[in-house]
Amino acid sequence: MLEALKEEVLKANLDLAKHGLVILTWGNASAIDRGKGVFVIKPSGVDYDEMKPSDMVVCDMEGKVVEGKLKPSSDMATHLYLYQNFKDIGGVVHTHSTYATSWAQAGIDLPNIGTTHADYFAQDIPCTRQMNEDEVFGEYERHTGKVIVERFYGIKPMEVPGVLVQNHGPFTWGKDANDAVHNAVVIEQVAKMASISLSVNPSLKMNPLLIKKHYERKHGKNAYYGQ
Ligand SMILES: [Zn+2]
Repeated sequence: MLEALKEEVLKANLDLAKHGLVILTWGNASAIDRGKGVFVIKPSGVDYDEMKPSDMVVCDMEGKVVEGKLKPSSDMATHLYLYQNFKDIGGVVHTHSTYATSWAQAGIDLPNIGTTHADYFAQDIPCTRQMNEDEVFGEYERHTGKVIVERFYGIKPMEVPGVLVQNHGPFTWGKDANDAVHNAVVIEQVAKMASISLSVNPSLKMNPLLIKKHYERKHGKNAYYGQ
């Protein structure tokens, strides 16, 4: 079942590698079929060169594998928690891309200091808090989802479609898997540009008018960017 969704998820995973966001097998993408109450995710630790649509793993909303011979990605429970709590998202991506992961390791929000960032994210990209002992040694991947959702209290996930998990790396999401990949590319690029900008001018400030203008011309009520 879900052949089209498996193809979409395979393509999303291969696109992560194509965009240079994944080293070895450090990344995963998934997509959900909310009508059927299942999601499709990359298998754990399979080489990108050898992955086939039939290797994709179908899980239900309790995290049980309902189709597929391989084990799902070890981050499956994080994807599941995001689908359970962010009701509008259709796809999730996780990578250890270099710049976004460096900001996650630094443990600070990625500031909105340019129009590239403002085109996709309505504000700074939040970084989660440190996890405690129970969270790390308990259901670690589910708790990773919980600290993300906790950080998004008062933030609309579709207006800020990504997060930095402290000491770990970025998770992004979108209306489908392809959209989540797109946002993973954006988060890496804006993290790279912020690193360079702040090294040139550590006290720089973004004009808040431009943040509003750029986000709203693409996503606002009267959006006019694109066809
Ligand atoms: Zn990871």
